[in-house]
Amino acid sequence: MLDSLQKLGKQLDFFDNIIKYPKVREGEERYLVRIVFDLDEKKVAIDLRKYQRELAREYLFVGNTFRAARENVARLTTDNLKYLMENLDSEESDGNRWRFVKNNLISNTRIQIQMLRQKGLSTSKLEELDKILSEVEENFIKDGGNIAFEKDLERGTELYTVCVRKSNVLIELAKHEGYRDFLRLVIGMPGDVRDGTCHVCGLIKQVLPDPAFPSGSLLKVWAKDKIGFTAALSDTDEARIKSFAICIDCRDEILSGWGYVKQRLTVPVEVFNAYLIPATQGVLTKDSLDKLSNKVKNDFSAVVSYEGYKELLNFEEALKSFSETMLKESWYMLSIVFGKPESAHFRLLSLVQDVPATDLYRLREQVNNISNSACSFFGEARSLWYLGFSDIYRLLPLRKGRIGSNVDWRPIVELFSSILSFSPYPRSRLVKYATLLARVYRFQLFDIYGNIRKPKERGLDSELCRALLKFNYFLTMLKNMGVVDNAESEVGEGIPAVEWERDERLKKIGEWFKEMGYGGLQQGLFLLGYLVGEVGRAQYRKGDTKKSVLDKVDFNGMKTEKVVTLSNQILKSLRDYRILDKSNESVYYHAVKLLNKHRDWLRVNPVENAFYLLSGYAFNTYIHLSRGISHD
Ligand SMILES: [Zn+2]
Repeated sequence: MLDSLQKLGKQLDFFDNIIKYPKVREGEERYLVRIVFDLDEKKVAIDLRKYQRELAREYLFVGNTFRAARENVARLTTDNLKYLMENLDSEESDGNRWRFVKNNLISNTRIQIQMLRQKGLSTSKLEELDKILSEVEENFIKDGGNIAFEKDLERGTELYTVCVRKSNVLIELAKHEGYRDFLRLVIGMPGDVRDGTCHVCGLIKQVLPDPAFPSGSLLKVWAKDKIGFTAALSDTDEARIKSFAICIDCRDEILSGWGYVKQRLTVPVEVFNAYLIPATQGVLTKDSLDKLSNKVKNDFSAVVSYEGYKELLNFEEALKSFSETMLKESWYMLSIVFGKPESAHFRLLSLVQDVPATDLYRLREQVNNISNSACSFFGEARSLWYLGFSDIYRLLPLRKGRIGSNVDWRPIVELFSSILSFSPYPRSRLVKYATLLARVYRFQLFDIYGNIRKPKERGLDSELCRALLKFNYFLTMLKNMGVVDNAESEVGEGIPAVEWERDERLKKIGEWFKEMGYGGLQQGLFLLGYLVGEVGRAQYRKGDTKKSVLDKVDFNGMKTEKVVTLSNQILKSLRDYRILDKSNESVYYHAVKLLNKHRDWLRVNPVENAFYLLSGYAFNTYIHLSRGISHD
């Protein structure tokens, strides 16, 4: 992963990702102020340029400090004049008389250059810059001299940059090559350097014992891991140089790569992010790199949510000419990091390595196909039945931690990892989640499981049902992908579809069986559950809105005896409520026949029994609630 970031970083300009762009409201007139130290005439003048976004880059505005807010500001472009001078006038006067502050950015820059020089890191351009700055310091700042400007300085200024006029030539110091060297060194070299071997490129050169990656970044977590092993032995620089040291160039490249990923290849998945780290091949132009990034990001977004999928369609339309082979040739693999930046550190949840970029396309097709099937089966909006990561996130109830709303996301990222790499995931675990999800809705456990949204009271039943039906589609998708195995309950032959053809109302059941590929036992359980739905509706009509028949179903698991007892009770209820019509009779007949036939298998997995029973209930109830079939 690290070498991927570095490879990416090599293709980028160091400044690409560290330039800070002040936020300017549209239509607002703002300025960049050039403060010109005129060495010929010994006066300070100001010169305004209308502010445009590109100017932040042109004048290398990278913020005032990089590591700690307390550090002395040493920059030649700033967004706050207080780092250079202070106003001397009271409010009544014209407000244009100023004095240099003691800790000003020009003197601070020189102090930093001096430090770089002592470490043997200075460059000839940097020395050239220092010479100009020394003249400014000597002629203007040394005695804290007063300055009077002709124009008003305060209003509408976004950025200030230091310039010099010498022999009648204007030198914009922020554009001086020495200043680029300066920023690279200051930002790229956050501490002492020593002679040593870089653990990334393997060269013997000046290295940083502590890579000091920005706090809250993935890199910090990674470096900590590396150091972690040896820190226990010794915390001296010498020990670290032996265990993990990095040269300035490697650090720059890795930082740039990570900056690019954060900016262009990050996709939010509900509460955390997915960072897509490409393994690029060969050298790409910035333009094709950006295009590829867009393509991969869009592909991934489509795997996350229906909104992402819709955007992808627009995007593909616009990019029809863009060749797929380019993707395959220059960006074959990607690693995906699931994580969440928190105030002081980066919460790394999971790393999925080496996913072929073309697999994203495969996955996207799977999600697309299954969502299509579901929405055409129920004749409803696509967004209700989409099965992207964001939707899957709402299918696995995750317990809230003891402290606040600190949810443990590991189970869901583990599942995402399996899906992304098309690798096995235990089916039994998923089915347990399905029945747990049903419990969350039935018993309203929304306070305990933070990621399941509480629907309005009236919508509870229909949400429960859709969630269970969606889970059926989800399992089917994973089975098609080879991520989960066949169900243990998938035994025996089902009822021939032709049996259902005779009854218009039951025809839909036959279609469902075909779509889901249920075995005989699953069908038996489902049909019994279907009748639970019938009884439940009768109870609801009689004012029992809680549907007490559902209390007879143990959501945690249905053992053989419980299933048998339930089937007897259901027959009685069908009679009591006078709903044992021809259709229900036929359903009951098939249910009992199948359950008897596969009785031995009922013992194997009580949780699956409960799942298929509840699926039958959900099917019946949902179809009626969504008015797919009119009331009897
Ligand atoms: Zn190196």
